[in-house]
Parts: sequence; structure tokens; C-alpha cells
Amino acid sequence: MKTIDVSITSIEKYVIKYLITDNSDLHILQNKQVEAYIKYDNCESFDFDLTIVPKSILYIPISLYLLPITYFYNVDVIVPEMDKVLYGRLNDMYEKYSKIYGPFSEEWRGKFTINKIEENTNMMSSAYENIVFFSGGADACSAGLNNPGKETVLVSIPSIESLAKEEGELRMEKFSLIREFSKLVDSSWIVISNNFNRDVFNDNMIQTRLSEDLKLNSSAFKFDGWFGIKYLANMCSVAPFAYSQGVKKLVMGSAFEQEEDNKSVNYDGANPELSDSISFAGTKFSEQDEIYTRRTKKVANIISKCNAMNKKTKIWTCFSDSSIQCGQCAKCVRTQLNILCANANPKDWGFENFSDKAFTKYIKKFSYWEKNACWLWDIIDSINDNTKYVCCNELLHWLKKIGYKEYLKKASFKKKFGVWKKLLKIYKYPHYVRSVLKKFRK
Ligand SMILES: [Zn+2]
Repeated sequence: MKTIDVSITSIEKYVIKYLITDNSDLHILQNKQVEAYIKYDNCESFDFDLTIVPKSILYIPISLYLLPITYFYNVDVIVPEMDKVLYGRLNDMYEKYSKIYGPFSEEWRGKFTINKIEENTNMMSSAYENIVFFSGGADACSAGLNNPGKETVLVSIPSIESLAKEEGELRMEKFSLIREFSKLVDSSWIVISNNFNRDVFNDNMIQTRLSEDLKLNSSAFKFDGWFGIKYLANMCSVAPFAYSQGVKKLVMGSAFEQEEDNKSVNYDGANPELSDSISFAGTKFSEQDEIYTRRTKKVANIISKCNAMNKKTKIWTCFSDSSIQCGQCAKCVRTQLNILCANANPKDWGFENFSDKAFTKYIKKFSYWEKNACWLWDIIDSINDNTKYVCCNELLHWLKKIGYKEYLKKASFKKKFGVWKKLLKIYKYPHYVRSVLKKFRK
């Protein structure tokens, strides 16, 4: 039997370590044995101690993270203990992931071998009601503002993002973002880090198998693939903390967006049907925050709520490793446009390098490109013909006139042309080009 075995090797107050052993000869893990850890920061003010949390709860994060591999390979994951509620959810999780990313093969229907299934009905305390996942982005700020106060703990897990680095300016900024935002909403906060994405799976090989051998081609798979399939599982690193604080609801801001009348165009690893399928002990995901509120409206709500309190907050969407947002990546541009549509100045909401002139030039050159048209549709549809905007007024009315389909067409052309231009730079090496051409003629 091909297996992947998990065990806990050490438990400290705020750190848990696992050892994962690949006995399958399929090279699913980066090495035959991999050490994984989860670390909880800023927990001193909580009555929190991992050494007294039941083992079946401590096994939740790593079990969930390993689970999807059993959909794609004929392997068993062997876990010493599992929470009974989670165990009861496994079938439904398979169905939902298969529906959105698959269909997956029936024969590998998520196999676990579990030595002991434990019922964890009594939470350790009932200190807090909600956990709100907080990345600093528009969806997270909205969820935080909708669930404010002492009942809530804001939780940031920077390592769930695909481009996350464990050190550097961005990671430091993530700490300062959650600290500042917690003051705004009067909630507590913690930061969780793990090495799951970095050290556990042989991700490139698995992604290739899924696309080339198993031929998954759903829109969700094309969008975020094997990475997206593990996304929510990775967020469940919060499980031991949630259990220890008696948290019943996990709140995440919805990243769902519509395009015209179609309300389900951006299927990905944060899809509401997926979060609805996951629960453990006494904790489950609540309905995603503002599930059908469009992004521009959400940003406008954040701004008006903050204005009402006479406060400001940064809306942080950038992945570049800096304490200043780059302003030019798709997420930065999208968010600045959302802010402009809310008739505000991006400089006041986390984009300190924003300049009306430079931004206008950038957009008019069709340099803003989105993989999914829904975001641009929302922005342009939100522009009101009769409004005079405080920033980029001329640009917004120009965008409205062009329309989202035409803009994206031109931006896509520019993007493709950019690739060709790079290739054509070979003209710098005429001798090389000539000899290649000669070969082709032969
Ligand atoms: Zn950026």
C-alpha cells in the first residue's frame, strides 16, 4: 500500500511541528521526509497554549493540507487522530472540490487511514465569537468592518499566498497593517505562519500531472490550479487557535465577483461553496462576507465607514516585497480604480505614490490587464456619467466611453505584442538571427 504518514514531533506553547513521510515512491513530497510547522505570533494576550490542545485538533491543519493529494494519486494518508466533525465533512469536501476543479476520478476519493476519531464537542473556552481572516485587502477590510469589536480576532496568515516571503519589508508591513486595522475596529489580532506551501509538496510535478495526465480543464483549475485547491486548507492553520478560544465562526471576505448578470465568473480556491464544505469541532466558515457585493461598492463602503469615524485605513493588495505598494500590478491598479470610482484619492488609502498624471498615462496606454474581465466590468460600470471625480475625472469618463470589452481587447493585444517585442529584441544580435534563419531555410 502506498502511504503518506504524518506525526507530530513537537509541541511548544505557540509552535507545532509535524513530520510527513512519503512511503509512496511517487515523489509527492519535496523529500522522502518533510518537516512542517505552524507558528502563532502575538498570542501573549490570549489564554492560548498548544500543549493543552487535543491532538485530534492539532492534526486538523496538516490533514486538510494533505487531503487533496489523495484525489489525484492512489495513496493513503495515515493520520494518528482526527476530529469527528472534520471526518464527517470529507465526502462533501470531495464533492465540492470535484465539482469546482474537476471532475476528479472516483477511485481516488480522498483516502485517510485514521487510528482514532475523536469527538471534540466542548471547546476550551468561549472567549471569542469570530475569526476574521485579514490580509489587508478590500475584501478583508470589509469583513473586518462588518464584524468589529471585542468578539472578533483578526487573523493574518501571510504564508497562504503563493508569492509569500517569510522575511522582508512586505512581511513587516503585514504586521503593521493588522495592528493598525485592529485599532480601527477595536478587535484583537494574531499572525500565523507556516512552511506548508514552501516545503511540503513537489508542486510543479503535481501541477503537471493534473493538467497533462489527468487533463483537468475547469475554469477554476485554469485560474489557480493545484495552488488554489490547497488554499482554504492552508487557512485552516487557524484551527488549534480557534478551538482554544471557542470561536464558532470563521469569516472571510468574499472575492466573488460578477460580470454583467453572470454572478459566477471567477471560480477559484476561495469559492464560497468550498468554504461552506469545511468545518471542524465547533467551528465552521460563516457565509462569506458581502458575498454578492461588487468590489467597487465594497471599497466605497470601506471609505465611507472610515470617513464616518474620521479615520483612514490602508487597503493593501500588492505582492511586491516592499513597504510601499507598487501601484502598477493588476491588483494595485484595480484597487486604485475602485478608490477613484468611490470619489476618493488613492493616496489617502494606502497608495502613497499615487499620481493623477502618471496613473492616467498608464491606463491610457492600455497597460492595465486583467486575467478575468469581471473586475474591469465592475469598475467601468460603476463610473457615473454625471459625477465630477476628485481625482482622474477625465480618465474615468474616458474609460466609461471606451467600455470594458474594448479596453480589455486593446490591453490584451498590447500584452501579446509585448511578448513579441521581447522576442524581436533578438534583432540586437543580427549574426545569431541570420544563422538561425539560414538553418530554417535549409
Ligand atoms: Zn502592486
